[in-house]
Amino acid sequence: MRRPMVAGNWKMHGSKATNQALLAEVERSVRPDWPIDVVVFPPYVYLADAVRELEEGRILVGAQDVCAESGGAFTGQVGAAMLKDVGCTYVIVGHSERRRWYHEDDTLVARKFAAAMAGGLKPVLCVGETLEEREAKQTESVVARQVEAVINMLGVGGFADAVLAYEPVWAIGTGRTATPEQAQAVHAFLRSRIGAHDAKIAGHLRILYGGSVKAGNAAELLAMPDVDGGLVGGASLSADEFRQICAAASAVRH
Ligand code: PEP
Repeated sequence: MRRPMVAGNWKMHGSKATNQALLAEVERSVRPDWPIDVVVFPPYVYLADAVRELEEGRILVGAQDVCAESGGAFTGQVGAAMLKDVGCTYVIVGHSERRRWYHEDDTLVARKFAAAMAGGLKPVLCVGETLEEREAKQTESVVARQVEAVINMLGVGGFADAVLAYEPVWAIGTGRTATPEQAQAVHAFLRSRIGAHDAKIAGHLRILYGGSVKAGNAAELLAMPDVDGGLVGGASLSADEFRQICAAASAVRH
């Protein structure tokens, strides 16, 4: 059985005051007996505050990005060991916004994945196709390529302590969600692809769905057998929406 995970990607939103209020509300409303992992991903400058705010440790903190280098003369960058040092547990790599706006290719994403692991963080690898790729029936070849880039660099063992997130680019921040069946088909494909390398790792791997998840659609998406949680953008900025998504995840049994 895989423990569901709900991850809130705050992107470049918030301030000290709004974050504090949001975290307090999330911590108050996510029940300690819910059998799920909950992780929030605030912007870099607020990570240490978030770790302090969430000192009970029930809700974990992750970063939205990491440098592929371990340290040195890389102005403006933040390394995995630094993120670990301030109390992060997870880091997102390969988010489509970084692939698109910062031109991160599969090799750089794989290097970031490796750097995260080397620094003691658990990577959350995002994969997903654009609308054009879906319409051209390239969804499977795109997500396979994105996953294989990591396997080629690190072996399938890289996924032993990582999380995979399927995030169709056309569903991120658009209000347009994959249907539960569309999500399940890609999740099952990803699991079988990793299973071709190592069935045990594939069986334990959590594959999150991301793309306009909200309170109103979480239950049906999370009920799918290969959907092990959600990576939530916009809706994670509302404590009430986020709580309802966490509640839906905690009700899932598969
Ligand atoms: C995301 O940023 O990873 C995401 C899924 O965003 P949204 O939920 O807003 O579509």
